[in-house]
Amino acid sequence: MSLPRTASIVIIGGGVVGCSIAYHLAGRGVRDVVVIERETVGSGTTSKAAGGIRAQFPTETEIRFSLEAIEVFERFEEEFGVDPGYKKIGYLFLVSDPDDLRGFEPRIALQRRLGVDVRVIAPADAKKLVPALRVDDLIAAVWGPGDGLAGPAEVTNGFAKRARQRGVTIAEGVRVTAIERAGDRVSGVTTTDGAMSAPLVINAAGPVAASVGRLAGVEIAVHPRRRHIFYTEPFPEIPGPIPLTTDRASGFYFRKELEQVLLSPGDVEDIGTDFEVPVDRAKIEEAVTKAVARVPVLEQATIAGGWAGLRPLTPDDHAIIGWAPGVQGFFLAVGFGGHGFQHSPATGRHVADWIVNGTPSMDLSLFDPGRFAQGRAKAHDQGPDAE
Ligand SMILES: Cc1cc2nc3c(=O)[nH]c(=O)nc-3n(C[C@H](O)[C@H](O)[C@H](O)COP(=O)(O)OP(=O)(O)OC[C@H]3O[C@@H](n4cnc5c(N)ncnc54)[C@H](O)[C@@H]3O)c2cc1C
Repeated sequence: MSLPRTASIVIIGGGVVGCSIAYHLAGRGVRDVVVIERETVGSGTTSKAAGGIRAQFPTETEIRFSLEAIEVFERFEEEFGVDPGYKKIGYLFLVSDPDDLRGFEPRIALQRRLGVDVRVIAPADAKKLVPALRVDDLIAAVWGPGDGLAGPAEVTNGFAKRARQRGVTIAEGVRVTAIERAGDRVSGVTTTDGAMSAPLVINAAGPVAASVGRLAGVEIAVHPRRRHIFYTEPFPEIPGPIPLTTDRASGFYFRKELEQVLLSPGDVEDIGTDFEVPVDRAKIEEAVTKAVARVPVLEQATIAGGWAGLRPLTPDDHAIIGWAPGVQGFFLAVGFGGHGFQHSPATGRHVADWIVNGTPSMDLSLFDPGRFAQGRAKAHDQGPDAE
């Protein structure tokens, strides 16, 4: 199929964010939406996600995004005809530092005010949830039983399938090489499959959002950082399901994936490029050391494999959603860090509402693209780094 030569809206990036936006735009009756994906749908950093979904965020906006995600994932199969593998396994944060626990308190109060079931529990109660844990050095744990997981590939394919059924063109294997401007307005894109005119272009390019922004002359504060996930051979010694459990002291997290255990050292490194994110085998050692310190029985497990992916982080760890400053018709939905999968349903809906109605349907100033240049962003107030 050849690429159409005109579109009402071009979305650059067929990851979970771009596909959700396309689905919601088409649902509001927007015609001639084209998603351009240089590889295949969901093959970008979406394919590297652990699938975690938590309402344990530090801001009202993000908590509301998560609560919306939970509602969407609960009825996903009905709406999209795809089983997303949604499971409410809960998120458990293990705390050993009193200052860290104090930091949780205002976040927990906000989450509870918004209806989230989240509690501080004793180490012994954390051990009841995950009997394999070592808890003698913990002072508490923070437990969100309503949190869970779903499959990023299934969810992305669900959005893409319904978007196509609603008339969206999703062009795979096509790369956007330039964003055309007429003065201070976007006028279209140039791709490896020819040029296309469009009055509106959405940057949903995940970890490479900054380089896509530069195609339109816009600087975007998205910095991709590498993170590893490893998995064991089947390991019945830790029976599932167990919560996604994060050791706050070391950053290590783990959960059960069918018979295997998924584990991450919680690394944050400035390594990996647009096309390649190498797996560093030394990270296996780091993950295993942290794992055995917290879950001694994992000493008997064998690592069967793993992968590394880029998390598109921003300086304050909040996403960037809104019109790009200085270029009319250029919209940004980028910088989702370690939570872009879980926030994709609400992102798609709000971006579509904003574009169709001319104004967002809730206060999205937290994500304002102009906040870094204006010095309004607070540094790192994201709370726990959990995925
Ligand atoms: C190890 C790891 C674990 C994670 N765990 C979780 C988790 O548990 N929960 C969670 O919510 N999130 C998690 N995340 C984060 C999540 O993966 C991302 O935030 C999310 O997938 C971002 O989606 P996206 O659509 O913005 O990006 P992407 O999936 O990367 O999509 C962008 C797409 O744009 C395409 N593209 C780029 N440039 C061009 C171009 N010039 N032309 C055409 N196409 C282009 C790319 O090929 C890509 O497919 C994790 C990430 C990592 C790395």
